[in-house]
Amino acid sequence: MLANYIDGRFVEAQGATPIPVLNPARGTVITHIPDSPRAVVDEAIDAARRAQPGWGKLTNSERAVYLRRIAARLRDNEDALSHTLTEEIGKLRDLARGEVATTANFLDYMAEWALRIEGEILPSERRGETILMQRKPMGVVGGILPWNFPFFLIARKAGPALLTGNTIVIKPSEETPGNADFFARLLDECDLPPGVFNIVHGTGKTVGEGISSHKGIDMVSFTGSVPTGIEIMKQAAANVTKVNLELGGKAPAIVMNDADLDIAIPAIRISRILNNGQVCNCAERVYVQRGIADEFTDRLVKAMRDVTYGDPLGNAPVDMGPMIHEKAALRIAGMIETSVGEGATLLTGGKHVEQGGGHYIEPTVLTGCAQDSDMIQKEIFGPVMPIHVVDELDEAIAKANDSEFGLTSSIYTRSLSNILKTTAELNFGETYVNRENMEAMQGYHAGMRKSGIGGADGKHGLLEYTQTQMVYLQN
Ligand code: NAD
Repeated sequence: MLANYIDGRFVEAQGATPIPVLNPARGTVITHIPDSPRAVVDEAIDAARRAQPGWGKLTNSERAVYLRRIAARLRDNEDALSHTLTEEIGKLRDLARGEVATTANFLDYMAEWALRIEGEILPSERRGETILMQRKPMGVVGGILPWNFPFFLIARKAGPALLTGNTIVIKPSEETPGNADFFARLLDECDLPPGVFNIVHGTGKTVGEGISSHKGIDMVSFTGSVPTGIEIMKQAAANVTKVNLELGGKAPAIVMNDADLDIAIPAIRISRILNNGQVCNCAERVYVQRGIADEFTDRLVKAMRDVTYGDPLGNAPVDMGPMIHEKAALRIAGMIETSVGEGATLLTGGKHVEQGGGHYIEPTVLTGCAQDSDMIQKEIFGPVMPIHVVDELDEAIAKANDSEFGLTSSIYTRSLSNILKTTAELNFGETYVNRENMEAMQGYHAGMRKSGIGGADGKHGLLEYTQTQMVYLQN
């Protein structure tokens, strides 16, 4: 059973219920984690609280040294780390390697901010007065993670939190704890002061809720689904704890008559199968203009039919791995069945396939889904693409915006006026023009509507882990 990492030591959670961790491509048990009781959560938060004042007194540059050291250890172990990610998630090997590389790059990028976090001097209307705004750490951050990019998300939370003087307690997803354990083992070799970085394993109910409702936590940084985000807000409200929420998406892709389909088809195809269709950012519904709808549909169907799937650690190369678990595959298959029952036409795929102990959804394309149907409105998180035909850009924009989600969106067109109108009128945290949906670390990844509160990455994401203090000086 994996141990927790608390106060600079790996400690077993004595007597905790073990939770099995499965390889989703094989259905085999990789390891177990403890469902750590609340007393263990308290212990980790206490350790982080004790460590914070000393860590907070270091300069940003001194803290940046540790981030760079961790990044180097990750690079030294890229192959083994990425193997863990593939084993736990069924993520393709190249994507897993890319996730490890991005994680190391992200920590280095955050370290570069050390000399760039600035306060402000504000003018006063009173003679002899100087007004300063300075930034302070939040204190102790609770990081609660999902399973789809679990390794990168450790750094996306710990990087800015630690650089700005916070300490952190991380709860990895119960589906994918091994990569977090690996991260802790490498970090343990980097001589961080004990208690600065802690990991507690367990379920959302015991450990997750234990963190978000704890009065010793100053900020909860959560990535996951909307229903859990709502629960976390409620739990954090009891202590008026700051929340930063990166939640689900239902990204629209608009394809206009003048689109270059040699760009749009591969971009939308990869968007739908990347990480086995389990990416919050990626296009989940297409609005295609009528004049190009037949050609677009035929080409996308063909591209999706050609997608191969199977165990990413098997002998043959594949384009796509399994769903994270059987429950996810059953939910997606149920959504497809409902959609067809409501009158949608299945153009390819649609089946839940059990193979070698893994659960797969055939790459699927549907058409004729109503705007108010679940297929258009709910996050599917699998390799399924509904195509909805529209007449005009205004209709596409209105239907794209008609969603409780507001994370990302995209448009494919050669017209500058279409691009300008769309970026002005689409209400999503990100809009991608003539390219697949993938953000950059110097951007600001933030969702509108139910897709979240606050954001991650870049200067703006970094500053979320600070709070301001005003100082009024009279000479
Ligand atoms: P999830 O909400 O089921 O779980 C996320 C984490 O929350 C897990 O660690 C879980 O144990 C914990 N949790 C569950 N209940 C809790 C509770 N009551 N209190 C505190 N913690 C609790 O999400 P998931 O299935 O792991 O991940 C998939 C979701 O994450 C999708 O909706 C996806 O869109 C979203 N996601 C969003 C982004 C983004 O940047 N916006 C990135 C990745 C994933």
